[in-house]
Amino acid sequence: MVRVRFAPSPTGYLHVGGLRTALYNYLMAKRLGGQFILRIEDTDRTRLVEGAVDALLDSLKWAGITPDEGAVVGGDKGPYVQSERLPIYHEMAQKLIDEGHAYYCFCTPERLENMRAELSAKGESTAYDRHCRNLSPEEVQERLAKGEPHVIRMKIPDGRTITFNDVVRGEVSFESSLIDDQVLIKTDGFPTYHLAVVVDDHLMGITHVVRGEEWLSSTPKHVLLYEYFGWEPPKFVHVPLIINESGKKLSKRDGDVSVESYREKGYLPEAMLNFLCLLGWNPGDEREFFTLEDLAKTFSIERVRKSGAVFDFGKLLYINGLHMRAKSNEELADLALPFFAKLGKEAPERGYLVKVIEVMAERANLLTDYVTEAPYFYEDPQEYEEATIKKRWKAASHELLQGWSEELAKLAEFTPEAIEANLRDYAQSKGVGAGQLIHPVRLALTGVGNGPSLFHMMEVLGKETCLRRIKKALEVLA
Ligand code: GLU
Repeated sequence: MVRVRFAPSPTGYLHVGGLRTALYNYLMAKRLGGQFILRIEDTDRTRLVEGAVDALLDSLKWAGITPDEGAVVGGDKGPYVQSERLPIYHEMAQKLIDEGHAYYCFCTPERLENMRAELSAKGESTAYDRHCRNLSPEEVQERLAKGEPHVIRMKIPDGRTITFNDVVRGEVSFESSLIDDQVLIKTDGFPTYHLAVVVDDHLMGITHVVRGEEWLSSTPKHVLLYEYFGWEPPKFVHVPLIINESGKKLSKRDGDVSVESYREKGYLPEAMLNFLCLLGWNPGDEREFFTLEDLAKTFSIERVRKSGAVFDFGKLLYINGLHMRAKSNEELADLALPFFAKLGKEAPERGYLVKVIEVMAERANLLTDYVTEAPYFYEDPQEYEEATIKKRWKAASHELLQGWSEELAKLAEFTPEAIEANLRDYAQSKGVGAGQLIHPVRLALTGVGNGPSLFHMMEVLGKETCLRRIKKALEVLA
């Protein structure tokens, strides 16, 4: 039985890389009929951010990545929040001490600082100098009894090559001489990530640890801990970093990195998942449109690649457009409506918005596009774009538009076909090309030079609005 987990630390928002890790775990469980567990890793008390757990849960829920077991949903291997598991870590750390794999360290922060400064001045590695590794049991007892602040450190053996298999990278080796005597329990009594992750993955029956590549160098410590405890390690799957165009880890400087910010910008969760899944994985063919269900059938961890995956903002937008066009206009209207209030605009009638969406179909790539890209669907233009006036408003425009608007007022049937036929007939009767009229009409109705199909747009706006706007434009654009 495959059991995988997503184990975020509540240090802020959910990063897009975090969502991809959650997704890979989720898909693996779905594909192999296993279980997907959510564990909250909140043992670093200095990095906790209030509200971060709720924000994480909210983003996961939005994305539709629902755990089978874990924090909130519960299960029989809990608690699933690490801060609620302290006695377990203490018991395990004690076990390591009793068996000679860990030791108490009483070094003060000052001593450690001086030690590191000296070592780095000599150009040496600043790893802990193992000062407390060989204290006598009596001394340890005495200092503990006195209540001296202390940590528990792991004993890293000398001269060993620690080797493990990674599903993505194959065999990976680290020299033990390069590994620090890692702190397992901190002065505040909380475990470090390294102890907690091993203990929990084992006790929760995790079979595959799927996580970001940044954890690869921690894995030899974990492998040693499994060995010390006499436990079978899970399979490790380190997925490639998400990078920017210059090959560096994607950061805030490159653009938005929180899942929430994409949600706010009008991206669909389906598109986010589709895009993120393809960052570091491919189906082995040219397909690029996937629903979550498709992915659950297609995804295989064996096709995850080693090299970093470039976050291509343009591709994300393109994929979002594909997912928008896969939805009905009614669905899109329901999804888009809340964005009006969010952007400080009055929401239109749902039925009206459905019509706007129909006309905007090919042009909208974000839910917010219905709000921001075509404000003229909801309010009369307040100004007319200078560049468009220059380009499109000719000496004859005023008279042509005036004349046609009188024809338009008489038009009984206000359909795109009827409007278009009427405009073309009128242009012909005046001996000008239809463009001589089409462009000024668009400018009068929208204030800008580009937009969706003019005649369809006019039908949506309605005759009265069109006539009112033309009249106004004729006053302004003399
Ligand atoms: N808590 C770690 C993080 O925030 C999880 C690392 C792991 O999956 O082992 O990324």
